[in-house]
Amino acid sequence: SEGEHFRTAVAALADEGRARTTDRIAFRTRSDDEVLDDGYKWRKYGKKTVKNSPNPRNYYRCSTEGCTVKKRVERDRNDPRYVVTMYEGRHSHVCPGTVYYAAQDAASGRFFVAGMHHPDLN
Ligand SMILES: [Zn+2]
Repeated sequence: SEGEHFRTAVAALADEGRARTTDRIAFRTRSDDEVLDDGYKWRKYGKKTVKNSPNPRNYYRCSTEGCTVKKRVERDRNDPRYVVTMYEGRHSHVCPGTVYYAAQDAASGRFFVAGMHHPDLN
């Protein structure tokens, strides 16, 4: 499902986080649900009206104490079938849910599940 692709993509990027030079990353996902399950727990702290768009922009903060990661969620204003999720920062803790390790297929660019583990089993 799209939700699973989204989650594995997020996990893959978290995994290669050290190699990144920016802590900002955005995903564009086709979905009916505005808030996609990425394995983390979030607390909504803001909502803003977007110019030229019927859909608002919602702001979330990671609910783990001491973690400063934020995400911004809004529908694509050019194609409302898509949800744009932008993350800012790096989590200071492990994912509270099961972590899927994704690999990217070079030809198609799609992510697929290469493995998984649960933090409790470490
Ligand atoms: Zn966090």
